[in-house]
Amino acid sequence: MAEKEKKKSKGVPLEHKFQGKGLRKCRFCGSARALIRSYGLRICRRCFREVGESVGFRKY
Ligand SMILES: [Zn+2]
Repeated sequence: MAEKEKKKSKGVPLEHKFQGKGLRKCRFCGSARALIRSYGLRICRRCFREVGESVGFRKY
């Protein structure tokens, strides 16, 4: 008997929804596409490739 059918209530609070919708931009080129927000970088992928190396990230 499968009793695993419990309600999967997503406990994701909506507090963080769109915190500053327009603020999500690349610091360098201003693009909002493919942003990398982890590590507090807030730069896009393209700039990340360039800046990432100087910051300490390497392409593996
Ligand atoms: Zn950029």
